[in-house]
Amino acid sequence: MANKAAVAKNKKQIMKMKNGNSKFKSVKFKNRCQVCGRPRGYIGRFKMCRICFRKAALNGELPGVRKISW
Ligand SMILES: [Zn+2]
Repeated sequence: MANKAAVAKNKKQIMKMKNGNSKFKSVKFKNRCQVCGRPRGYIGRFKMCRICFRKAALNGELPGVRKISW
């Protein structure tokens, strides 16, 4: 998938940021879903996008996460 390239690029960017090598502040830097690489709808707390988060939550893969209802 094309998204994988984006994820790899993002990882490189993160490494660069950590190393402090980059002279310029990256404007293109964006948090990306670690599962599918989606740049939008990212949930920082789970490091996933809303879609992967939903799937994982419904599968019970996220401890303590429950669908809310009252
Ligand atoms: Zn995702």
